[in-house]
Amino acid sequence: DPQLNLQYTFENFVEGDCNRLARAASLTVAKNPGKTAFNPLFLYGSSGIGKTHLAQAIGIEVKERSPDKTVLYVSANKFQTQYTDSIRSNSLNDFLNFYQMIDVLILDDIQEFAGKTGTQNTFFHIFNHLHQSGKQLVLTSDQAPADLQGMEDRLLSRFKWGLSADIKAPDFETRIDILTHKTRKDGIKVTQDVIHYLASHINTNVRELEGALISLLFLSTVNKDEITLETARNVVEKLVRTQQREMSVDFIKQTVCNYYGLDVESLQSKTRKREIVQARQIAMYFSKSLTNNSLSAIGSKIGKKDHATVLHACKTISNLIETDKEFKSQIREIEAQLKQ
Ligand code: ADP
Ligand code: MG
Repeated sequence: DPQLNLQYTFENFVEGDCNRLARAASLTVAKNPGKTAFNPLFLYGSSGIGKTHLAQAIGIEVKERSPDKTVLYVSANKFQTQYTDSIRSNSLNDFLNFYQMIDVLILDDIQEFAGKTGTQNTFFHIFNHLHQSGKQLVLTSDQAPADLQGMEDRLLSRFKWGLSADIKAPDFETRIDILTHKTRKDGIKVTQDVIHYLASHINTNVRELEGALISLLFLSTVNKDEITLETARNVVEKLVRTQQREMSVDFIKQTVCNYYGLDVESLQSKTRKREIVQARQIAMYFSKSLTNNSLSAIGSKIGKKDHATVLHACKTISNLIETDKEFKSQIREIEAQLKQ
């Protein structure tokens, strides 16, 4: 069982300017796994833009062409868990043997290995073994190899051996094509107006486009309506409101304080208590990275500080993330809550 989602085919992957190179490289690899210069094939880009889909399409295509080949799709998190389990149960050799007999290994979200030295070392050996045996590696990540943090140099240098291809957020034309493809495939009846409206207003990623289609379908079923432009407007409005609520400085303050069990008001106080100073810095850090507020706007909303204080906070938090594993995992958890 290669753990593939059989919907994630090349056929169902809409081609556009934002993904053309990545798609072409993936197809090349799928036709000749391990036999091209694209080894590893490293696909990267932000969330919800089709990395997992494309990586799995390679696996599906390989299986279709040569059913005898061993293909495995695994998320970096699952790999990490399997590895730790194998250490605990004294079966590291079985783990290694299992991975070393794979013909096409697809490892998704490799940025999750950041800071995990044991996992990285083990993956390094598996990588070398597979690569030397002419087996194919397909890796995905939210960053280009050069920008990945917390990864060992020898691993990073190998990521650059093959081809790195980025997938960008879908451009307008591609958004139209994706919506057209999905509505046809699912038999959803919509007018061009509706498709045009959604494609103009939802420009973040493909996952949100899909989400909008589902809401649209749901609303029209509930109201026993045709899908009208009016319904599409409601869906988009709701989506925009959610985004605004989620990524305001206030929402960030609230989330950070919830996480540490602090009162939001305490961030505005003059106290120098360490835990509050740090919570304030974390809120500043996320406000800088996740909202479009200027440094001074962030400062005025968090504790009435000036822009230099916010800048200092961002640097302090970035440094801590790099040097303190425990702290880093707290930041990851808060980030996950923010992006939920
Ligand atoms: P990522 O791994 O980059 O976060 P996914 O591969 O999970 O994103 O894609 C999110 C959703 O969008 C999936 O349901 C996927 O099928 C769909 N999707 C992404 N890109 C395309 C595309 N070019 N054509 C059709 N569907 C797409
Ligand atoms: Mg993914």
